[in-house]
Amino acid sequence: MSEPILFSDLALSEPVMRAIQKVGYEQPSPIQAAAIPVLLAGGDILGMAQTGTGKTAAFALPLLSRIDTKQADPQILVLAPTRELAIQVAEAFQKYASEIPGFHVLPIYGGQEMTTQLRQLKRGAHVVVGTPGRVMDHLRRGSLNLNNLKALVLDEADEMLRMGFIDDVEWILEHTPKTRQTALFSATMPKEIRNVCNNYLNDAKEIKIASSQSTDANIEQVYWMVSGTNKLDALTRILEVEPFDGMIIFVRTKTATVELAEKLEARGYSASALNGDMNQQLRERTIERLKTGKLDIVIATDVAARGIDVERVSHVVNYDIPYDSEAYVHRIGRTGRAGRSGKAILFVAPREKRLLYTIEKATKKPITLMELPSGATVTKHRIDQFTQQITDTLQEQPDLSFFNDLLAEYSHSNDVSPEQIASALAFLLQRERPLQVKFTDVKPERNERRDRDDRGGRDRDDRGGRDGGRDRGPREDRPRRERNDENMDRYRIEVGRNHEARPGDIVGAIANEAGIESRFIGHIKLHDEFSTVDLPTGISKDTLAKLKKVRVRNRPLEISLDTGPRGGDDFPGRGKPKRDFGPRDGAPREGGYRDGGRDKPRFSDRDNASKKSGYRPKKSD
Ligand code: AMP
Repeated sequence: MSEPILFSDLALSEPVMRAIQKVGYEQPSPIQAAAIPVLLAGGDILGMAQTGTGKTAAFALPLLSRIDTKQADPQILVLAPTRELAIQVAEAFQKYASEIPGFHVLPIYGGQEMTTQLRQLKRGAHVVVGTPGRVMDHLRRGSLNLNNLKALVLDEADEMLRMGFIDDVEWILEHTPKTRQTALFSATMPKEIRNVCNNYLNDAKEIKIASSQSTDANIEQVYWMVSGTNKLDALTRILEVEPFDGMIIFVRTKTATVELAEKLEARGYSASALNGDMNQQLRERTIERLKTGKLDIVIATDVAARGIDVERVSHVVNYDIPYDSEAYVHRIGRTGRAGRSGKAILFVAPREKRLLYTIEKATKKPITLMELPSGATVTKHRIDQFTQQITDTLQEQPDLSFFNDLLAEYSHSNDVSPEQIASALAFLLQRERPLQVKFTDVKPERNERRDRDDRGGRDRDDRGGRDGGRDRGPREDRPRRERNDENMDRYRIEVGRNHEARPGDIVGAIANEAGIESRFIGHIKLHDEFSTVDLPTGISKDTLAKLKKVRVRNRPLEISLDTGPRGGDDFPGRGKPKRDFGPRDGAPREGGYRDGGRDKPRFSDRDNASKKSGYRPKKSD
């Protein structure tokens, strides 16, 4: 790892520094270290960065450092492809501005009451974060005044392109002061985005955080796609069955090291935090305890774990994904020391998938998908532990005569067999932590093969294409999602090719107005006078009513459940479909539709499963 840059090296304003301290960030991520000085100096940037790299703070921290709260008109405008992202970015601004008195940020997106938005805009906001369509709307109405705009951020520009917003984005760029500072972030750089940069950015500094690193062959690398179970429950399940010696768990913040250590301790593990707030002596002592086996698990930030060399670390868990491949390589290099073998487990949230691919690409090693241990596996593990305890106790030969007499007497006077008594005692013993575990898991979203397909598809996608992919042939190569997929319904919308509708327009409109993430939007098939689109089942009446009125190419969608011939490619008499657009990038495949509740704990007896799971008797200091 290169020499660390500290937040204190970056000349951020004092209130922003206090907020960083409050949220517990220890060190700027690479994209932050590179972008913050340029943005503080008023320069434009072109950042090639994905979700998970810390890109939001990379623009929010420097722009907030230069904000003037006395000026009520918006000074910063962030354009984001979806309302979900707009809200997320607005929340991030709020968090980083928590020490700036009187600060206001306003998210504006489609699907939200216009009157509320108009009122909020009238009240004034220093930062506006919006989806392109809605921002354009307000600019046209005159309800959003950008005359005093200092900076414009285009977040996830390639996603805006994919969703058909690029013309809107350019329109907005045309309607903002030429003097504004511009920052554009994009995970990929298709030519349309490159054109936007050439036309609207001023001598932009290009920031690309890419590094090629190799990983040790003796480290087995796996990842778990966060879904269906929350991360803490997943971790405790893994801890229960994974035979580990020493373990380092990486998280992003100092606060998280302490919180997770406390939670694991409460579950019976010998765990401790390791972060930059601890003095050198305490840190050394913690590492020493890990070395000597007095401690099994250390929960660390990247900074604090730098250079740890402890042979007995058999496992590294990336509880929070690292910012880049360099950090990943450094982290997993804490295991597999001194020629031993090691295992690295990576938790990846669906929206961080791209970062996973980047890491794989940079390290030139595949990271395989793991499934969480099933209820049967955990049960078997607990039974093995239980029977081992019996064996150990008998082998130790303690004086059991008192108990022998007691139970012989009980057996005799109650006429029950020794087996029945033993069963009753075993039952009592495991009541707190049942031997038989059942998790009502959501099926993993994809298997390995599909996952590979997905990666291939994404690579093709990354070449980009105007119109949200209209001309991208490869999309048609992908496996078709059938209408009778149990989690999708097919809808008909009254805009088609003759109205110059593009799939990107349709996705954009539905994603923003119905609040359905674009990745959940399935097939879109354009016909001359209408189109069909596959959407997750269970869309509420209210949402459908809203969608009916949403306009694409100035025509209301008039959405209705499709009653056309099942499975057929054509609708007789209604014009031939021109093109079939396969599942949208990242849309759920046969494995099942993600219902958005992936972080919600799903297994019924999670308390039993996680509380005191994997008993490792605490070793005292
Ligand atoms: P982003 O790439 O902007 O979506 O950020 C990903 C996550 O990283 C968010 O949860 C942030 O809170 C977190 N994050 C951003 N910068 C830092 C930092 N310097 N240290 C620790 N966590 C950070």
